[in-house]
Amino acid sequence: MEIQSMVKDLLATFIERIDNLSYMDEFTKQHAIAKARNLKYEKIGYPDYMMNDTHMDHRYQHLQVNCSDCYFENVLQVVRRDRIWRQEEFKKPVDKTKWGMNPHQVNAYYSHSRNEIVFLAGLLQPPFYAPHYTRSMKFGSIGMIIGHEITHGFDVTGSKYDKDGILANWWSNRSREAFDKSTRCISKYFSSYEVSGFNVNGNLTLSEDTSDIGGLRMAFS
Ligand SMILES: [Zn+2]
Repeated sequence: MEIQSMVKDLLATFIERIDNLSYMDEFTKQHAIAKARNLKYEKIGYPDYMMNDTHMDHRYQHLQVNCSDCYFENVLQVVRRDRIWRQEEFKKPVDKTKWGMNPHQVNAYYSHSRNEIVFLAGLLQPPFYAPHYTRSMKFGSIGMIIGHEITHGFDVTGSKYDKDGILANWWSNRSREAFDKSTRCISKYFSSYEVSGFNVNGNLTLSEDTSDIGGLRMAFS
């Protein structure tokens, strides 16, 4: 599948970039590369269990949408079903095949606890992706998003989880200090953006900003 081969290409670039980092010591580099190599990217499009009645996702089984111009009430119904489904999931053993979002959404995500990136069918269409796009167009659009999700595994939050998704410190103190210094540069830069007299709080957007920069640089390389 083309998306999987793009993930492979972007990961190879990312690993090369880690290896060339001047601020990171060998110990931390080894852990970072092991984490990148252990990244899961099997969930692309939609889950197989959607097509299988016996293992169906029952999230919306009892959902009733019977009014065509009650948008707000309908959304409340969906949120209520979703909440009930999530509470029921807590009582069950962990199922790593489950998807955290629905396939029609125009979205993608990184899971810290699974060290996994997921790309939904809703996203894999124009303007983000089409099979006839040139390779440069693909890397400039969906490739940047793939790079963004990969970077989430190594941003201010993701860097606190190891290759198996366990909250653990795999950084040397020296590399961590250098990393924090670099991220302060990003938050300072984004805090300078102003909209109608209000400034962005670069500390609150740090994770997304880091991933945007990382994704762009990875796709460009
Ligand atoms: Zn993001």
